[in-house]
Amino acid sequence: MIAVGAAIDATYGETLGMQYTIRCPKCGGEAAFEEPFLFPRGDEAVAAEHAAGVTGFRANKDCFVIVRFPDEFPWRDPDNSHTRLRLGPSLPPQDIWGVCVCPRCVFRGKHRLDWPKDAFYAASFSFGTLWAICREHLVELRDYIASSDRRLKGYRWAWNLKHTPKEFLLVRRRERIVSVLDRLLSQPVRTAKKLHPAKNRSR
Ligand SMILES: [Zn+2]
Repeated sequence: MIAVGAAIDATYGETLGMQYTIRCPKCGGEAAFEEPFLFPRGDEAVAAEHAAGVTGFRANKDCFVIVRFPDEFPWRDPDNSHTRLRLGPSLPPQDIWGVCVCPRCVFRGKHRLDWPKDAFYAASFSFGTLWAICREHLVELRDYIASSDRRLKGYRWAWNLKHTPKEFLLVRRRERIVSVLDRLLSQPVRTAKKLHPAKNRSR
């Protein structure tokens, strides 16, 4: 059962929108903001439907809805407006509901994303606050700011990097900003365990 759940996560993890790393509302630690529902289609829908430990239902002939956190965020939750839950890279999320999962204090609960206030990876300077969606984004942001040519080729987060406010790209501030970001990155990483509905229930 666990293997199937892990396979489901591996398969559908790719279909998730951005993975926001947020500050846990309970302990202040590094937590994940998870999308509560997934919408596999076609063969993937069939696989999900027959997989053990997956909670969900057939939405229509083509689509199966996986309810990832049936206890914390059931499908019939009044805040489930799933069309608004699809996070796109070009849209700053507003009023987006999901589930906060904290590996540090084991908190798991419904959470309204307040971005960028919720950002775990954030650094404040007198000229503004720099924030990153997740650790990988922060690594690229550090590399981008540190680079002298500021070329965007090869970055996964190129779109976001392109929109880095000018205040953070001034050459005279480069060294200071990079050292602050390096300090942020030197914090120990806590990786959330892979999630699947069967496991969710036992917690
Ligand atoms: Zn916590």
